[in-house]
Amino acid sequence: MFTTDPFDDDTLHEECGVFGVFGHGQAAAVTALGLHALQHRGQESAGIVTFDRDQFLPHHGLGHVSEHFSRREVIDRLTGRAGIGHVRYATSGVTVMRNVQPLFVELECGGFALAHNGNLTNALMLRRQLVRRGCLFQSTTDTEVIVHLMATARGGSVIDRMVEALRQVEGAFSLVALTPEAVIGVRDPLGVRPLVLGRTTGSAGGAYVLASETCALDIISAERIRDVEPGEMLVLDQSGVHSLRPFQPRPRRFCIFEYIYFARPDSIMEGRSVYASRQRIGRELARESGVAADLVVPVPDSGVPAALGYAAASGIPFELGIIRNHYVGRTFIEPVDSIRHLGVKLKHNANRSIIEGRRVVLIDDSIVRGTTSKKIVEMVRGAGASEVHMRISSPPTSHSCFYGIDTPEEGKLLAHKMTVDEMATYIGADSLAFLTIDGLYRAMGCPDGRNNEAPQFCDACFTGDYPIALTDRDAQTNEAPLFAIRA
Ligand code: AMP
Repeated sequence: MFTTDPFDDDTLHEECGVFGVFGHGQAAAVTALGLHALQHRGQESAGIVTFDRDQFLPHHGLGHVSEHFSRREVIDRLTGRAGIGHVRYATSGVTVMRNVQPLFVELECGGFALAHNGNLTNALMLRRQLVRRGCLFQSTTDTEVIVHLMATARGGSVIDRMVEALRQVEGAFSLVALTPEAVIGVRDPLGVRPLVLGRTTGSAGGAYVLASETCALDIISAERIRDVEPGEMLVLDQSGVHSLRPFQPRPRRFCIFEYIYFARPDSIMEGRSVYASRQRIGRELARESGVAADLVVPVPDSGVPAALGYAAASGIPFELGIIRNHYVGRTFIEPVDSIRHLGVKLKHNANRSIIEGRRVVLIDDSIVRGTTSKKIVEMVRGAGASEVHMRISSPPTSHSCFYGIDTPEEGKLLAHKMTVDEMATYIGADSLAFLTIDGLYRAMGCPDGRNNEAPQFCDACFTGDYPIALTDRDAQTNEAPLFAIRA
């Protein structure tokens, strides 16, 4: 199936990583390394665009960064001292070459390349308006809306056009863009998705870098300067770094799920270590829902830091009772349920010598459809555990994310359909408990828990409290898609 209808399935949402560098003699190589460090944010496609003298040089591919950017001749062709890159984790139906980023367009004011992490919540509505005005969309990504808005803007510099376009979009975005003169980084006014500024040191010194996470700075030995602020636009050019504030200030609402699952544990986000946050979350979980047991066992890899925290707070020994095969991609990527089941078996194996005859507390970060937990509990029982207690280091995921984390439609979320007791029965555990929302906030350094009047984070996946309007949902229900062509 091939469709131009961007809402042809329930999972348009994308998880992505972005990277940009200005003023580096090896811009393409540095970008490839940065993308490699961000690979966990998207495994379905990767792309780099550099600028040299008078031309933009792109290279894109489906699959992992190493499949496309480890060959010398590819990097050598991408000359220039400035570049941007993108890794994409789109879901089924829309993984086609024309959607691979960075996007590149010729605007009246010059060439422009764009890479986006996040999800726009009024893209469908804007897209309809733009199509009626004659815009010819080439992809099904919401990101393309931004470049059409720039193309049809009232004129002015590329920065003016970008600001005019971004003032019309709603949703979550961390963007990295490339022009002949500059690399530009922007975060949406709530700062839902991350973006950090760094600088390379050493002999090649002095180049500025933008990246979704600090692990992409570490890989090239760049130092972290600071996060790009919510609502801030940073322009990196020959004369240095310039900060613009094109949006009305709004209260910060960074995505709390980055800390729970999505970011790499060695990253520092908004000044907090992801690893230490996960450990504190595990401690809080042990305090809230401790259970008598012989072993604390993480579901690797995402459950490991929380399990360490849980073990430390409970005094129950931590053991690697499940071993992960690292040569299999994330289970979630598999688009068909039957394959997803198989994926769990391919990925994990119970460590019988540790588990047999013991009471086990399993720690995982989240239950989405319940597929992983059900399989893991069955596997641990199969290896002879006398009791299996499941503890989840987040509140129940009962709502979909519309801001850039891939979650299925609400009806497929286990926590949307079932109570905690029903979920425990479904996954086959002797007991099941989730972290409370206030426990999560306490672990994130908010001693009084969640401020319900002005929540400190975006936690819509747990609370259904969506901080940004979901215009597209109305557009979807009120009007038939404009451009559903299937072949
Ligand atoms: P499920 O098997 O559908 O319940 O998915 C839960 C598992 O997927 C957990 O072990 C999580 O570590 C992982 N997970 C949770 N959210 C996501 C996400 N948005 N993308 C990929 N994996 C996820």
